[in-house]
Amino acid sequence: MPDCIFCKIIAGEIPCNKVYEDEHVVAFHDIQPQAPVHVLFVPKKHMVSLQAMEAGDEVLLGHMMKVVAQQAQALGVSQGYRLVSNCGASAGQSVDLLHFHLLAGRNLQWPPG
Ligand code: 5GP
Repeated sequence: MPDCIFCKIIAGEIPCNKVYEDEHVVAFHDIQPQAPVHVLFVPKKHMVSLQAMEAGDEVLLGHMMKVVAQQAQALGVSQGYRLVSNCGASAGQSVDLLHFHLLAGRNLQWPPG
């Protein structure tokens, strides 16, 4: 998608502080971290949100969850973190490519705002 900032990051057109990449997913630090650890997990397949999942995408999403757990371990936060995906503008989604926020490193309040 030409105007998608995360597509540009995936394509290497915009730099990022990458923590992980394979053929299906890329993970990088959020540019405006909301916690001491704030990493975004993005599929290379373009889908706007979970609501745009197609048949077969559950394999990709399952893989992403495995990567999240592995990277939580690698980042040293596996004892406590939050995984969030904002779906839709009213939920706070500002980039229209599915992504998961991993937040950790401070006490996280519940419910979120
Ligand atoms: P959303 O609001 O869609 O749930 O999350 C989008 C996230 O992308 C925000 O937390 C925002 O800070 C982050 N973000 C937006 N532009 C960039 C960028 O160019 N680089 C990085 N690393 N993060 C970005």
